Amino acid sequence: MNDAGRVADSGNPFRLAGSDGNPGRSIIDVHGVLFGGPEAAIIGGPCGVESKDQVFAVARYIAEAGTRLFRAGAFKPRTSPYSFQGLGSEGLALLDAVRREFDLGIVTEATDMESFSDVERTADLVQIGARNMQNFPLLRRAGHSEKPILLKRGQGATLEEWLLAAEYILSEGNPRVILCERGVRTWSNHARNTFDVSVIPAAKALSHLPIIADPSHATGRRDLVIPCALAGVAAGADGLLVETHCQPSSALSDGAQALLPNEFLILVNHARKIKNDLQSISANLGLCF
Ligand code: PEP
Ligand code: MN
Repeated sequence: MNDAGRVADSGNPFRLAGSDGNPGRSIIDVHGVLFGGPEAAIIGGPCGVESKDQVFAVARYIAEAGTRLFRAGAFKPRTSPYSFQGLGSEGLALLDAVRREFDLGIVTEATDMESFSDVERTADLVQIGARNMQNFPLLRRAGHSEKPILLKRGQGATLEEWLLAAEYILSEGNPRVILCERGVRTWSNHARNTFDVSVIPAAKALSHLPIIADPSHATGRRDLVIPCALAGVAAGADGLLVETHCQPSSALSDGAQALLPNEFLILVNHARKIKNDLQSISANLGLCF
């Protein structure tokens, strides 16, 4: 029997993340953007911090789109040790500069215990990436943070395992956890991962936590990002995390999935419209979008 099974046998496995006993939906405010509210909460930015020019150029159109949250990794968890690993603390300093210059909230990843405190100082929302979804010491550390946590789904995690990972953070005292579906590994090989759109309403049925979709890592392909993003919002996602870059072909990581500036703007407008339309559908059907 796995860990989830053992806990499930002793009663409600999702004591804090579950809807049972925790009525109502959580709304989490990040830099004035509400996750779990009536509007789509959108996070945009490049995969990694590469240079001041690069982050400033992207931050400019993120702000012009009326979106208020900028993402970029300073510490990058890469599959290969030979790939770009991020600028580290120099990257965090550039993210601080983005906040000062554009008044954008910062979303950036903590990859290990050593860098967690530095990352949480800079971040308005600390990301725990897919590869670390079951790094239990890191989850417990996130549970002691004053900052909200964006918990990505592990590459092969079930919904139950994902919610139990959230439970590690919640049970240490941090109530602000946002889930992020970023695709899982399947037999399909036309895309980087398989975007699991059905997990969005399934998570909302089980848990009060906000959930957003990351169509960038879910697909790995620019041409699939907008369709999957819109599908995610239509399925009830509370928002999106989307990678975008001014010159994707020269990006140091994940260029193939980065939207161009104009594509990002188009996506933001359509995602907002779909989210608005869902409000009336959800009222008519009694569904929780
Ligand atoms: C990222 O957001 O750049 C990232 C590495 O995401 P994931 O953990 O989903 O692969
Ligand atoms: Mn990336």
